[in-house]
Amino acid sequence: MMAASGKLASFRLPPLPTVGELIKLYKLRAEKQLSQNFLLDLRLTDKIVRQAGSLKDAHVCEVGPGPGGLTRSIINAGAADLLVVEKDSRFIPGLKLLSEAAQGRVRIVHGDILTYRMDRGFPVNISKPWGEDPPNLHIIGNLPFNISTPLIIKWLEHMANRTGPFAYGRTQLTLTFQKEVAERLTASTASKQRSRLSIMAQYLSTVHNCFTIPGRAFVPKPEVDVGVVHFTPLVQPQIQQPFKMVEKVVRNVFQFRRKHCHKGVEKLFPEARRIELTQEMMQKADVDPTLRPTDLTIPHIRALADAYAHLCTREPDLLSFEFREELRLKHLSGRGNTPMDMPASTPPSPLQPC
Ligand code: SAM
Repeated sequence: MMAASGKLASFRLPPLPTVGELIKLYKLRAEKQLSQNFLLDLRLTDKIVRQAGSLKDAHVCEVGPGPGGLTRSIINAGAADLLVVEKDSRFIPGLKLLSEAAQGRVRIVHGDILTYRMDRGFPVNISKPWGEDPPNLHIIGNLPFNISTPLIIKWLEHMANRTGPFAYGRTQLTLTFQKEVAERLTASTASKQRSRLSIMAQYLSTVHNCFTIPGRAFVPKPEVDVGVVHFTPLVQPQIQQPFKMVEKVVRNVFQFRRKHCHKGVEKLFPEARRIELTQEMMQKADVDPTLRPTDLTIPHIRALADAYAHLCTREPDLLSFEFREELRLKHLSGRGNTPMDMPASTPPSPLQPC
């Protein structure tokens, strides 16, 4: 498909069986375990792909191509190199058919996106320095619900460390999430959906909730609607501390969503020093301890993370302190805690933001 100039000529797929026909042909019943909800309407898949911006001559990684509806839209949008990562082997024959029709533009990886080394998936020469425009590399996917949150957390950590997909520069992401998760990712200060995920996504990237797809557009229909979210990594993250430290501060602060934020901050410190160190941290950060976690802005969180980092530099043991571990040891020794000390629910693990 190279034109005489060496540039890729524009390309459209030749006539193919429809995605619906392929599903029938290969008897592809949706697997609940793999969160399979297919999009068969190519106008809708085109609309998702448009949110990524121009894909002319782009390198793209598509997560979970399944029967290939979104895949077709990505190819028709002008992508020159499309790497698809699919876990379910039943889709591989259909994807091979598509790859042949796309004349070498589609590379198929039969694997798990959670472990796939994307930093090895594309040529090094497409990289752009972090401070420049994003590289012509996009990640696009109608994500399986069951992995969408751990996957975005993993990619946010990669974003912070400029590793994985971000070893090439400020790679942009266009992804679907359950509507509620899309709302949390993009929630602003004081909104009902403001959560850990809002802070973690927004301190590192510009996040847009592009549009909502009604559940009925999918086959089979999921129980919820779906939001399409676009991420562009910021040149300068709004918080300069290591990702894991920011995550720890945010996780503790949001442990008691409806209480004053100092309640969560307290849980960063061992019982014996809790009051004293919380006061010191709040004063140093100059954050009103009576604000609710949902009212905190990113500058507030930055000030808290900086103050916590300062304390950890002075007293390195604080870094490894975990409130849950203290609780566990207390229970083991028979000194149960009072209900007032308990978070509203079991604190979520680092990979399951509330
Ligand atoms: N892209 C297709 C579409 O829009 O119709 C399918 C989307 S479906 C919601 C999610 C797809 O991701 C399925 O094809 C599923 O097999 C695949 N998948 C699930 N878990 C995966 C994983 N860990 N790694 C790669 N693909 C996965």
